[in-house]
Amino acid sequence: MERVDIKSMNMQELKEFVKELGLEPYRAKQIAQWLYKKRVGSFDEMTNLSKEARRLLSERAELHPLKLVKVEESSDGTRKYLFELKDGSRIESVFIPEKSWNTLCVSTQVGCPAGCKFCLTAKDGFTRNLTPSEIVEQYIAVQRDVGEDRRISNVVFMGMGEPLLNFDNVKKAVEIMTDKNMLDLSTRKITISTVGIVPGIDRMAKEMNKVKLAVSLHATTDEVRDYLVPLNKKYPIKEIMAALRRYPADNTRRIMIEYVMLSGVNDSIEDAKRLAKMVKGLPVKVNLIPFNPYPGAPFKPTPRERIEEFQKVLWDRNIAAFIRDSRGQDISAACGMLRTKEKERELVK
Ligand code: SAH
Repeated sequence: MERVDIKSMNMQELKEFVKELGLEPYRAKQIAQWLYKKRVGSFDEMTNLSKEARRLLSERAELHPLKLVKVEESSDGTRKYLFELKDGSRIESVFIPEKSWNTLCVSTQVGCPAGCKFCLTAKDGFTRNLTPSEIVEQYIAVQRDVGEDRRISNVVFMGMGEPLLNFDNVKKAVEIMTDKNMLDLSTRKITISTVGIVPGIDRMAKEMNKVKLAVSLHATTDEVRDYLVPLNKKYPIKEIMAALRRYPADNTRRIMIEYVMLSGVNDSIEDAKRLAKMVKGLPVKVNLIPFNPYPGAPFKPTPRERIEEFQKVLWDRNIAAFIRDSRGQDISAACGMLRTKEKERELVK
């Protein structure tokens, strides 16, 4: 009989599974505690279950811990993890310590199908979606590595992949992360970042609107965006903005607009004015991301003064705008630099 991946189950599914095995209903909570609070590596360690229950579990279910291949630490304390999955695929996750909280950036796919021109992950192409457990295990493995006194409080779905093209698995991972019997994180401390998959944004509005939404906009005309973000041809700016206007956001739950600053491409004062117009009346926070350059990159970072001018145009129009300096640049852990392939990974340094 095929064994199920137990960490891909949300609490409801775990309860049903426990019932199916003929165990008492309260066992589901106990098992969840072993999996997510004590984070054991085998069913045998679940010592408050009977021997028979443990045998049943190991017969019908399995655990797929990630294999940690490499950890690198940046001079700013950021840690980049390279993991190997059961099928040999590789993904990266990034731990970002802040003064009063710790953030984990997780991957949702092996590679990425979006193909954004300035992003290194795109260059590896797309291999497959991650399962819910492969997403959740990134949290478990990194938390184990950094130690319990550096509790990960925030999770951003901003690693490799396009989360809204793996909606069901991402949704389940969020359920596991926020269930009080499971990882018990606060929904508001989870952010999902999308390149602008309109049907995915609409589904988020209905099914996951307590987590934060971030949209990688990067341009103010379809002409420039078609080039930078090829998926714009499918979901053009106007449709994305319309989806954001339908989205249940307010000033306590703002939508984040991400905008990577590329010299001479999308960083004119006109762009800033257009951006201000586009988001007018929407509860947004704009993050201006300095471009992280790499050898052979077809773009140059916008000079600092221009980023500040751009920011000022937005503030003058009452739009909250922040400059987001990337962390972990010296270990290629910064935005858009995560890669699946070893050879290419080395080349970036
Ligand atoms: N696919 C999702 C999740 C990835 S988030 C999305 O696009 O939102 C990673 C963020 O880093 C995106 O906003 C992406 O556009 C940005 N990024 C990619 N390459 C970058 C680079 N070289 N420098 C700065 N930001 C980059």
